[in-house]
Amino acid sequence: MYPLVTIPDAMLPFREYTHIDLCVSGGNDSTAMVLSLLHEYKAPKETMRLIHFRIDGPNENPVFFDWEETDSHLQYLSDFFDIPLVTIWDEKGLKTRIEERGMFPDSMNRFCTSYGKRDCYTKYVRRRRGNGTKTLCCSGELASESNKRSTYPAFQVHPASATKKMNRLVHTFRPVLHFQKQSVRAIMQEHGVKEHACYQYVSRCSCRFCIFLKKSELRTVAQLFPDQFSELKSMEKRMGHTMRFINGQRVPLSEFVGENRSVQTIDLFTMNCCG
Ligand code: SF4
Repeated sequence: MYPLVTIPDAMLPFREYTHIDLCVSGGNDSTAMVLSLLHEYKAPKETMRLIHFRIDGPNENPVFFDWEETDSHLQYLSDFFDIPLVTIWDEKGLKTRIEERGMFPDSMNRFCTSYGKRDCYTKYVRRRRGNGTKTLCCSGELASESNKRSTYPAFQVHPASATKKMNRLVHTFRPVLHFQKQSVRAIMQEHGVKEHACYQYVSRCSCRFCIFLKKSELRTVAQLFPDQFSELKSMEKRMGHTMRFINGQRVPLSEFVGENRSVQTIDLFTMNCCG
């Protein structure tokens, strides 16, 4: 029924992996990935962990880039699936990384993902997975989401794999790569999983102030969280570097969202929650 990836010959049977890491953001695509492994591929739950990369750093750091609801939604998913949740982070968190570099990340220099996600997982595996371990790292990218994602392979050897030196095997698997959004929605509905609350405001569950948000979505988020948006604008001034572009030209956030044209406040308590 679902357009599942065919398991490649180079991949081991699920039961031969000592660890199955499910990288989850709290968004629907990664939730669909977990559901597909549990109910379609019938992978063993005992070796599974939900792995979340907390973009704002350690749990005691208040959220800034991410949504307030992400931590609790991940706990909900962990309880719903009965799979332990492991949260990992870059010690400094994204805001500090931006301030240290004096610049915001962009598509050419996407250090938010490298510090906060890719390097974070690689370090975690290198520290925690010793001799003789075999890890399958699963993630929920959809090829239809972007040109870049359409080039991702469904299976590859992970850079943290070191079979000769450390006898540590790490494979990457993207089981929902061929899903469209309809399949994601269908598998979530079939199993009755709640969506992250952010979907009432934005189309993707990324950082709430993601550098790739559409203008209209960023405008909505700015209106919902005026204090954090104001701090982002102050960061632009302090660093002399803007977060967004229009027609290839850097523009301040206030101009990007058309702030002066839309002075409006959204009442959080009167909006319906789709969760
Ligand atoms: S969601 Fe956006 S801002 Fe956050 S790490 Fe990913 S690309 Fe960077």
